[in-house]
Amino acid sequence: MREIQIGGLVPFTTIDYPGKLAAVVFLRGCPLRCAYCSNRHLLDVGDGEYDPEKVFAMLQSRVGKLEAVVFSGGEALMQGDAAVEYIRRVRNLGFAIGLHTNGFYPEMLQRAAHLIDWIGLDFKTTRTNYKQLTGNDIAYERMMQSLDVWRETARDMEVRITCDPRFVGKAELCEIADILAARGVTKIAVQKYIPHFEDEKELTTADMREEIFNDAALRQKIEAMFPSVIWRE
Ligand code: SF4
Repeated sequence: MREIQIGGLVPFTTIDYPGKLAAVVFLRGCPLRCAYCSNRHLLDVGDGEYDPEKVFAMLQSRVGKLEAVVFSGGEALMQGDAAVEYIRRVRNLGFAIGLHTNGFYPEMLQRAAHLIDWIGLDFKTTRTNYKQLTGNDIAYERMMQSLDVWRETARDMEVRITCDPRFVGKAELCEIADILAARGVTKIAVQKYIPHFEDEKELTTADMREEIFNDAALRQKIEAMFPSVIWRE
């Protein structure tokens, strides 16, 4: 088995695992090529910039100080067994384990589910727009399978919708909300799109990016559909 490839580390965060002090480990590699990706440097698995044993030793030294470790990416499950084995070792230190995922690997998620306590799953846009946003033909179906895998575990999940107006306007948000509500999802986060790179900044205006967030009636409608809705601006 190839050694895990780690491309980033946040040693301390209060916002990446709900209610817990956490570290975030970014694993390299992602099968998608989202139009708004802010982690372009992590998309190829390549060679990790961080020594996995040094990261592990750092996490070990934080036992009793941190409560959770979140695996993010890229797509954390793309590294397959190497990722699962590393997650197992970190979990054995006593941390709660979080996973930020685009849902592309439902089979890996199933295999790793017993090691994971909470996931933040990206529901990127409607089925119609998914390929255009992600560059991948099967990403929507895979994500929906992961959604169902995680629902069956009955453990904690936040479904995240990033409102890039090129792909998620008001109609698309309502369509996604209907799908999630029908599946019994209880927590969603509606996230404002923030362009990270110069080449993205002129493709949308601030007014377009804020349209959903400024619509009180829409917010009320969405809030009535779920027990928990976070508006992440
Ligand atoms: S899933 Fe995330 S890491 Fe992968 S291309 Fe999309 S935004 Fe980037």
